[in-house]
Amino acid sequence: MNPVLPPPPSAALIRREVAGLPRYDPGADPDQVAAVSGRSRVIKLSNNENPFGVSPAVSEAVRKALADGVSRYPDPTGRRLAEAIGRHVDVPSGRIVLGNGSENLLELLCRAVLDPGDLVVTQAPGFSLHETFPRVMGARVHKVAVTADFGFDADAWSDALAAGPKLVFLANPCNPTGATLTAGELERVVAGLPETALLVLDEAYGEFARSRPDYPDGLDALRGLERPWIVLRTFSKAYGLAGVRVGYGVASDEALVRALDRVRTPYNVSHPAQEAAIAALGDHAHLADTVRRTALEIERVSRSLRDAGLRVVPSSANFLFIDTGHPADHVARALHHAGIIVKAWREPGYETYIRASLSTPGDNDVFVRWLTEICAKGTT
Ligand SMILES: *Cc1c(COP(=O)(O)O)cnc(C)c1O
Repeated sequence: MNPVLPPPPSAALIRREVAGLPRYDPGADPDQVAAVSGRSRVIKLSNNENPFGVSPAVSEAVRKALADGVSRYPDPTGRRLAEAIGRHVDVPSGRIVLGNGSENLLELLCRAVLDPGDLVVTQAPGFSLHETFPRVMGARVHKVAVTADFGFDADAWSDALAAGPKLVFLANPCNPTGATLTAGELERVVAGLPETALLVLDEAYGEFARSRPDYPDGLDALRGLERPWIVLRTFSKAYGLAGVRVGYGVASDEALVRALDRVRTPYNVSHPAQEAAIAALGDHAHLADTVRRTALEIERVSRSLRDAGLRVVPSSANFLFIDTGHPADHVARALHHAGIIVKAWREPGYETYIRASLSTPGDNDVFVRWLTEICAKGTT
């Protein structure tokens, strides 16, 4: 029995848009799963992190940054990091914007661009923040569904773009499916965009896909266009820096960067994070090794799960979207008892899907064994 509680004192203050928002779902808490399973080492496959750790150069840079002392504010312009990124992507550093993770940039873009009632177009299934941040601003969000085989629905996208969005969020590769858009599909999106719409190409997993023959490098595709765009990348995934929070955007023009500067907190990227990112960018071998090992595991785990009869979406990222054939919440809970955390998907139509990040070969084997057993036995 739930007694009817009086509203808390702050209730009347909260904007309607905010009160109606879902909470971000980070996946189960590792400490709780450790307690439930009785295992001290939990296998966390819920946040698409890098299981191979960071470059030794990053560890060294962070140690040094902390030794420099943390009593001073960081460089608010992130000049050295922006210059390093500018050289890396061959774009003037004035067109680089830094974020406290690229999530921060998603939020800043919405704040800078959206008026209440504006239309935003993105994809479903998709990344929850592509919907949440626009809704904070009072924008309307239209989600274009993928095709039955998780591909790009060109006709549905044409219709959605014709409705006149101000902002378009497109992740390539897509989270949660790991599927990629081809160069031709990206061209179709660009061709269908209203003149004034801002295209946000979210390449959080781009490093994993870049070696695939059909994957268009967003910067190469958009570089010469005389229209507003921004490509977002992050150090959280392939570079393994999720804990220090650094992402960046490469914008079509400096004016967009300056607009984001006006709406961000001035010191949004910490000194250790800036130093870590500079070091990470310099260690090409570590990145290449992560990408290579991840691709091997994606292949191997996909094959094992398909052999066991599960539907697995072909992935160019570091995670798999898997149809368990059972309510995903139940499967996720059963996995907790084995000390494994995955993300049960909650979007309509995908209630039997989980998203699982890849880990080391040993952990992945444990995951495959438990998941196939749980799916074979059922969850009730
Ligand atoms: C993980 C992720 C991000 C951002 O992560 P940050 O840690 O904030 O850089 C952005 N977009 C998508 C689609 C992601 O999956």
